[in-house]
Amino acid sequence: MTNKVVKSNAEWKAELSPEAYRVLRGKGTERPFTGEYDHVFEPGTYQCAGCGAELFQSESKYDSGCGWPAFSAPATDDAVDEEIDTTHGMVRTEVLCAACGGHLGHVFEDGPQPTGLRYCINSAALKLEEK
Ligand code: FE
Repeated sequence: MTNKVVKSNAEWKAELSPEAYRVLRGKGTERPFTGEYDHVFEPGTYQCAGCGAELFQSESKYDSGCGWPAFSAPATDDAVDEEIDTTHGMVRTEVLCAACGGHLGHVFEDGPQPTGLRYCINSAALKLEEK
């Protein structure tokens, strides 16, 4: 994986909110049902809270009931990277911003058709640019 945006931890820490830093750079997870965008469905583009890259479109956002923003697909195929995550006694697929390598969340295979995917993403990793 080659990220276009490369910064030191000190640089990220200086410019991100504490919660965004914990999620994006520390692979943290916000508590369910607490995130800013859990139940937001305004039209727009969800950008990476770290680097501003376009990650998801509101058209693919849906209410999964899981407590975090859920999307059925990324904005483009190369907007996100995926890696196998075996922490916490589970085998999950981690989703990262392809531009800066920031941790976004995980993707699960219980989403709506036609993709069947649920991108379960932390609000703190996103910034909604409303249309
Ligand atoms: Fe990013």
